[in-house]
Amino acid sequence: MLVRGLESFIIRRMGREPGNSSGNGAGQPLRFVIIGSGVAGIIAAIQLREAGFDNITIYEKAERAGGTWRENTYPGICCDVPSHMYRFSFEANAEWSHQYSPGDEILAYVEATMRKYGIEPLIRFGHEITKLQFVDGRWRIETGGGIQDEADIVIAATGVLHHPNYPEIAGIDSFAGPIFHTARWDHDVSVEGKRVGVIGNGSSGVQVVGAITPQVEQMTVFQRTAQWIMPGKNLAFGEDEKEEFRRNPAAMDEMHEKIGRAFEEGFGEAVTDVHSPQLQVIGEMCLQHLETGIRDPELREKLRPTYQAACKRLVISPNFYEALQLPNAEVVTEGIEAIEADGIRTSDGRLHELDIIVLATGFRVDRFLRPITVYGRDGICLDEVWAKRPIAYLSVSMPDFPNLFLLNGPNGPVGNFSLIEVAEIQTRYILQLIERLRDGSGSEIAATHAATDKFEADRAEAAKQTIWMTGCRSWYLDDRGIPAVWPWKFSRFRKLMERADPADYELR
Ligand code: NAP
Repeated sequence: MLVRGLESFIIRRMGREPGNSSGNGAGQPLRFVIIGSGVAGIIAAIQLREAGFDNITIYEKAERAGGTWRENTYPGICCDVPSHMYRFSFEANAEWSHQYSPGDEILAYVEATMRKYGIEPLIRFGHEITKLQFVDGRWRIETGGGIQDEADIVIAATGVLHHPNYPEIAGIDSFAGPIFHTARWDHDVSVEGKRVGVIGNGSSGVQVVGAITPQVEQMTVFQRTAQWIMPGKNLAFGEDEKEEFRRNPAAMDEMHEKIGRAFEEGFGEAVTDVHSPQLQVIGEMCLQHLETGIRDPELREKLRPTYQAACKRLVISPNFYEALQLPNAEVVTEGIEAIEADGIRTSDGRLHELDIIVLATGFRVDRFLRPITVYGRDGICLDEVWAKRPIAYLSVSMPDFPNLFLLNGPNGPVGNFSLIEVAEIQTRYILQLIERLRDGSGSEIAATHAATDKFEADRAEAAKQTIWMTGCRSWYLDDRGIPAVWPWKFSRFRKLMERADPADYELR
């Protein structure tokens, strides 16, 4: 394993055992605070430990770990990145039930990994960090509950798709029945035999509709923009396949390799090159799915997007079209005028009477570690630096905010890739920067302004070649209409993250 290799390399080179890692000039072990105990926070803790650091606290605002898999528990939730790809590299799992595993299985896997690697005792549950301030070379940390802490290094593993986007719809508070966001599913409310309205048809809405339509009395999908749907069967792994994985873990690594390559060479190429044959294939598959999957021509036209497939984050579903063709389903394309006590009124004047409204309206993706108030060197406020849009050099480091690193931060590879793999690669990269602090080369490290500005300019230029700028509205786009994500191939991300270039960092 790479991390273990790195650890033994560091220990050999430093001639010391894990745990004796200093570097803050005071001869004390470097102290780490990690924000968040989702997959990225857990990865950071495991890899720091393996690199020999053991003075680590993870602050978690909730009472449970798991991040996105703790928060998103809506019916039908599953990961549309294949299970054998969406995994910790050091924790292959022979027990995945399906090619695309359900959310509760992933949450159980994440928590089991956290426990196996002894991470749980590091977590302070129920403590939300509200302020970070860089004073005299260290980070001062405050929580809402009044805890004050200090750290040499802070790693923000606060997630991307985390803060629900509540739509501004007139009368939204006047609905008489239950109304909730997909990431705040109310499990005390039964949908069985109810009239349910779902606003939004992104990945979350599509999964909910596919799962609950057969149980509800009436399903009304409020579609603002039609969505291309990539077909994707979700086959269960048979007992014989699982047995083979248990007996021969290398088979899982092979499968991981194979799927990873297919994703990178297929999907990765497609989204970053509008002229690629891969993109054409994706477009044809989605079109074919629409043409052959929807029998009623009127419904088919309602569901036909007017932009290229994969312009929005590609939605993969085995059952959305089937659900929409059940007799109790309706797709409403008239705009929403208002929410009233009894339901949703659309622009044609019709009131769609409902018992439950589900807001599948996505997330505020420009937040990252905000709403934490962050003051860097000389009192520079992150909210001001990010007033227009969040940026970070290579998605991990920001000038003027030394020793503060981001996992799955702004402008990184998101979308249909494994954010577990992304966080592992980023943590390995960050460890190289931290090594400069441990070996006494300096006590503060942050990306330079020059490197950050150049990265940002190159990124914005490269984004023009991507499918995301071909004329659709999506959560990828920033205030300028430029995709706020990694615009190059995944292989370039992997390559650039292999070695941190000292010239791009200021070390004091
Ligand atoms: P989303 O893709 O941002 O979709 C939000 C939906 O809500 C869109 O259909 C949008 O319409 C609609 N909407 C938003 N505001 C509205 C308003 N005021 N009135 C009417 N409609 C409104 O959000 P999401 O479905 O939660 O997915 C977000 C991301 O989470 C995904 O792209 C994916 O990266 C991740 N995710 C992954 C999985 C997985 O299986 N791995 C599952 C779920 C989510 P417009 O299209 O017109 O904007």
